[in-house]
Amino acid sequence: MRFRCGATTDVGRERETNEDSFLVDDRLVLFAVADGMGGHSAGEIASFTALEALRANIASSKSLEEAIRTANKAVYDKAHQKPEWSGMGTTITAFAVTPDGRPVIGHVGDSRAYLLRDSELSQLTEDHSLVEELVREGRITEEQAEVHPQRAIITRALGIESDIEIDIYTTQLRTGDRILICSDGLTSMIRPEQTSRILQLEDDPGHAAESLVDAANDAGGEDNITAVVIDVLDGAAEVEPSEVEPPVQKATPVPVQTRSRTRPGFAKRWTRRFFVILPIIVILGVGIGAVGWYARNRYFVDFDSQGRVTVYKGVPGGLLSWDPTVESPTKLTEDDLTNSERLAVEKQPTFDSKSQADEYINNLKKRALARREPTTTTISTTTTTTTTTAAPAPVP
Ligand code: MN
Repeated sequence: MRFRCGATTDVGRERETNEDSFLVDDRLVLFAVADGMGGHSAGEIASFTALEALRANIASSKSLEEAIRTANKAVYDKAHQKPEWSGMGTTITAFAVTPDGRPVIGHVGDSRAYLLRDSELSQLTEDHSLVEELVREGRITEEQAEVHPQRAIITRALGIESDIEIDIYTTQLRTGDRILICSDGLTSMIRPEQTSRILQLEDDPGHAAESLVDAANDAGGEDNITAVVIDVLDGAAEVEPSEVEPPVQKATPVPVQTRSRTRPGFAKRWTRRFFVILPIIVILGVGIGAVGWYARNRYFVDFDSQGRVTVYKGVPGGLLSWDPTVESPTKLTEDDLTNSERLAVEKQPTFDSKSQADEYINNLKKRALARREPTTTTISTTTTTTTTTAAPAPVP
């Protein structure tokens, strides 16, 4: 199987840095695009690291899946080496040929592989993105997905966890087939029809890649744009990769390429992944905090196990893990109350503040005292219930 490849990457019109990387290795017959994300230039570190690890592992005869798995680990490990690389990640879409000559595509994220065959463009990979999931679930249409404000949110990337689920596609190729691997900076800017037209118009794969990037820039160039175009010159399989003839163009392996970058343009990309996850955590946190605050800033009155009227801090029955606690016990008992007062206390009246609860207790006490006036019983929260016969009881 012989291939001819052309590739280009561009920072686009909006971003300050290019965090995309591509890999074209004719000798290994390995072509890939990685679209990195993360702060402090971490995105480009992530995409570069992934492609270097990919190449090293393919070179040591690992399968494409193993190589991508190792690339994930490489980015993951690196992300834990420096605080500023923490949380960095990257997409990867790679094309390789197995030792027995079968073309294979490995894929994680929202970069894409397309096949142009007989003037028809078909997408080979499935995006690991929020909108793609919404489309699959039938909640939005393809057309809505194209303009969806959250279309940049991806649901899977290398470097985020120590292991990774990788999509592997095997495909049959014929002479004349053309494969495109590209980052979302291309597919979010131009429609598949235009991509197809450009791929059919430009015979040279390098020119085709450049034309695609130009078209994405003309359409706004909102993201880094990368296109790798691979032509199948000889679709006959069963050719050892080592026997692949030197490609017509790009005779020497082109190293992983990234544009020179100066300043991190991470803000947008950083929000990209965590846009979904973060608000959930924040809402959950705020929610739990609010419940806790509510549970801990309410008071209610109830009888304790010994029938004493008691002020509790919290809400009756507790909320989540916040159980009510005794705020101030009193010496007032069930026996001191009238039936209606007892029923009222049994309903566990709640209060916004301690002073309101205290006022409620004091009213009960006053009424209890008034009823006891003839027998002069003193009831107080601070002294032991005392019965005297000498003087009228003071109202606490
Ligand atoms: Mn991108």
